[in-house]
Amino acid sequence: MADILYEGKAKIIYPTPDPAIVLAVFKDDATAFNAQKRGTIPGKGTVNATVSAKLFLLLERSGVPTHYIDQPAANQLLFRRLKMIPLEVVVRNIVAGSLVKRTGLASGTVLGEAIVEFYYKNDALGDPLLNDEHILKVLATVDALQLAELRRSAMQVNAILSAFYHECGIRLVDFKLEYGYDGAGQLQLGDELSPDNCRLWTLKEDRILDKDRFRFDMGEVEGAYQEVLARVVAKAGP
Ligand code: UDP
Repeated sequence: MADILYEGKAKIIYPTPDPAIVLAVFKDDATAFNAQKRGTIPGKGTVNATVSAKLFLLLERSGVPTHYIDQPAANQLLFRRLKMIPLEVVVRNIVAGSLVKRTGLASGTVLGEAIVEFYYKNDALGDPLLNDEHILKVLATVDALQLAELRRSAMQVNAILSAFYHECGIRLVDFKLEYGYDGAGQLQLGDELSPDNCRLWTLKEDRILDKDRFRFDMGEVEGAYQEVLARVVAKAGP
């Protein structure tokens, strides 16, 4: 294959003959805690590519512009090339993970209203939480209109994905999004939508079906990823 454009923890991005399109190859490698924990989840690349493809298509049909083009192979997706915004946009419906540490609330506490948080995408700094003033006045990452649009889009994505996952018998606890601008300057949803960057608990019994099983050595990691794939494909179609 051609030279690598970029290699992240979970994906390798290759150029294609069209400079506006890239090929993402999803890896089975797993990392957690800013890459301090490493491992492999067999089949993860295919699960994450396929679940992402289904969810990007669902979002596109609901009017959310995304970078998704096609799935040429089980663990590969074609994406429009974006100029990425260095923010991780996290949406939360239920308290879990770092929000437990930040607030002392019990994991599983249902939030009255979904919230959106922004983290600085910077591995060297450990992706710190940013407030609006950090984003607008200190880092000048985006302007106020762009920030409002990110919030609006993230809430729209949450409404669409929460409803879909509910039909799959899954609670969408929280998730992380990344956005970028295409060549025409249009905001698009980028990155992936998979059990790597979403917390997914079964409606019945709150069984954890996401990367927390890997993060916290809970076992049955591969089975959980396969279960998400099966449930998503059963609802979205092959
Ligand atoms: N998340 C992610 N990448 C990150 C940090 C968080 O995909 O670098 C996702 C994570 O899987 C969860 C949500 O964002 O679905 C919220 O994560 P949280 O802030 O609770 O951090 P964590 O507890 O995962 O460190």
